Amino acid sequence: MIIRNVTVIGGQEAAPITGAEVVVTDGRFSAIRPATDAARPAPGGTPVLDARGGYLVPGLWESHTHLGGHAWFKPENERAKYVSQLLTDFLSAGVTNVVDLGGPLEMELAARDYRDKATDVAAGLFFAGPVFTGVKGWPVLDDPARAPIAYQTDNADVAYRQALELADQVDFIKCIYDGEPGAADKLPLDALKGIVAAAHEKGKKVLVHVHERIDLEEAVASGADGIEHAFRPEDPGSTAEALDVAALLAETNTYYCPTLVTWEQIAHNGEAGYLQQLIDDGFATHDDIPQITSRPIYGHQFPRHSAQDSRIRFDYAMRTLALMHDAGVKITAGSDVAMLMPSPPVALMRELHLLAKAGLPLPAVLAAGTRHAAEKIGQQATTPGTITVGAIADALLLDADPYVDIAHLVDRSHHIGTLRAGRPSWEMASS
Ligand SMILES: [Zn+2]
Repeated sequence: MIIRNVTVIGGQEAAPITGAEVVVTDGRFSAIRPATDAARPAPGGTPVLDARGGYLVPGLWESHTHLGGHAWFKPENERAKYVSQLLTDFLSAGVTNVVDLGGPLEMELAARDYRDKATDVAAGLFFAGPVFTGVKGWPVLDDPARAPIAYQTDNADVAYRQALELADQVDFIKCIYDGEPGAADKLPLDALKGIVAAAHEKGKKVLVHVHERIDLEEAVASGADGIEHAFRPEDPGSTAEALDVAALLAETNTYYCPTLVTWEQIAHNGEAGYLQQLIDDGFATHDDIPQITSRPIYGHQFPRHSAQDSRIRFDYAMRTLALMHDAGVKITAGSDVAMLMPSPPVALMRELHLLAKAGLPLPAVLAAGTRHAAEKIGQQATTPGTITVGAIADALLLDADPYVDIAHLVDRSHHIGTLRAGRPSWEMASS
């Protein structure tokens, strides 16, 4: 298949290529030619799309979600099918890969099995399976029904062995490192170190959920590959902590996924002004509002994370993320479980919008939603989140330049269609 006369924004540092020709063979990008070389006739029968005026960018990545959270209210035997449906929804929104940061292993394996047998097209799925946490730690707390989503551990040797075994079945490992130091519900630091060592022995990355700055620093010192969630600063009035943290993350090449959209909505859950803001920014319509306000979570306190705490984290991240980017931090775009968004894919679009609003340059926003997400979980060899020769052909075709306005990337009215492993969502004509 050939896509002609398109501007390729490959997702790397290189400048966009205008008037390019992109060739896809067996599900991968096999050639990306500049305009000067692109005039040759296509071999007879090759499907060709003339994409004049279009912009081809890497398919988007949701770099932090919990599909099991969305599927939680479905009967157990329907969850794999429901997750598959969510992956189809993601793809129609321009998201070609979804990274699940924690859920029941059985459900994740069943979902993968379901997708392997399915003939329709959906976003790719990468998952952590159960997370490691302390005894009755977040997100299990006192709810025995939540036990399958975590290994609750107080012993470094046990955690190390569990991580070795789990690493063979999942794409990466996720730890929760959140709570008072020494408290039973916090993962012990030596257990965190053991889990990282086990995962790295198996060639798998480790992503660590943090709360305080000290959690982040200890996670990095333990060898974490990615930090999940904007940390809460001790002094929100100063940018100094962000700069210190940025220097640490940049020096250790640790990815940073702030999950802004989740802190934004925990901070503002129940406020009419927040819903109006979503409408004004194009992420919800008036018709979505009754549905959102009737959800059981609407207007209720979120467990463990208070509105006030979330507001501090959100405001501080919005104020300092551009500084952190300038200091060399690789930021990734993930929304977590944003329960008030009209749909899971819209949560990622809001996250990308917020990253732009925080002052990240638009090429950095695109990297956060593509390449950095792939690198964070070690997928750069085959599914790198870039348009490069040899990569799995995941892409999003836009009708306007995403480096001019973030809306050109996140507003579906600008999406012409997607390529997922070389399969286009648009009709192709033959040459
Ligand atoms: Zn999460």
